[in-house]
Amino acid sequence: MSNNKLEGKVAIITGGASGIGKATACLFAEHGARVVIADIQDELGQQVAASIGSQKCSYIHCDVTDEEQVKGMVEWTVQNHGQLDIMFSNAGIIRSNKGTTSNSNQNILHLDLAPFDHLFAVNARGMAACVKHAARSMVEKRVRGSIICTASICASCGGEHDVDYFMSKHAVLGLVRSASKQLGMHGIRVNSVSPYVVATPLICNLTGMKAEEAEKFYEGRTLLKGVVVKEKHVADAVLFLASEDSEVVSGHDMPNRGFLLIQNELGKGLEKVVRV
Ligand code: NAD
Repeated sequence: MSNNKLEGKVAIITGGASGIGKATACLFAEHGARVVIADIQDELGQQVAASIGSQKCSYIHCDVTDEEQVKGMVEWTVQNHGQLDIMFSNAGIIRSNKGTTSNSNQNILHLDLAPFDHLFAVNARGMAACVKHAARSMVEKRVRGSIICTASICASCGGEHDVDYFMSKHAVLGLVRSASKQLGMHGIRVNSVSPYVVATPLICNLTGMKAEEAEKFYEGRTLLKGVVVKEKHVADAVLFLASEDSEVVSGHDMPNRGFLLIQNELGKGLEKVVRV
């Protein structure tokens, strides 16, 4: 398999200081991209960028709930690297405690609307701001770029709690479907990945489990027997959507069970999928 699928490309990864974003930053850099990690966890983000190497990766503070910061992040990237080719809009939270008055698990009967608003500001509004400013830069520079958003399997089913999280991830699919239609005329592709449970800090903080415990707990619950879904599996799917391997793929969501099945059936990785 080629090791330089993103040679010469410039990518922003929001939420890149941790979990899925961090794994994707490492993989993108391995494949020759210059990566800008954007996050609100400054110390962690700087550590990740340093571990990848200053030639390949830099860190910028960006709170995606603030449109000015999102705009500034894209401008900084273009000023420093010439253009933006790939936006992985991935920053997200599963439960907010901002302004909360209760210990609600966000069941509809007890829905607390202050944390609801904050969660939406990150997961839906923040995602839209990232797609907007990445696309504006790509259109202006005539870049046939690739935008990938992190949705979730929660984007296509209902939940027994966390109604705000499930709603926000449904909104991501709406964003991807609409933006892909509107940006196709500029040669810009927009897709999403929808992971199942990955034992990142997001899940560990929610469940109170350590990563190994969470992996064991969820192992038997994936579609494929014996599979533990790791950050790297999601990063592989994002790489596929970011690279020329998916050059005619736009407006699609790649759910967990889908990309694992495809990988498993072909046994050769995702690059073969688009050729079929
Ligand atoms: P994570 O907590 O490890 O990483 C999320 C990152 O987003 C963190 O570094 C955090 O600081 C950052 N972030 C949060 N709010 C932000 C803001 N306002 N501005 C900028 N950055 C912000 O969790 P993860 O599991 O890697 O989550 C990444 C994405 O994957 C999220 O969108 C999440 O909803 C989605 N997802 C995760 C799972 C899972 O099981 N882990 C499953 C489906 C979808």
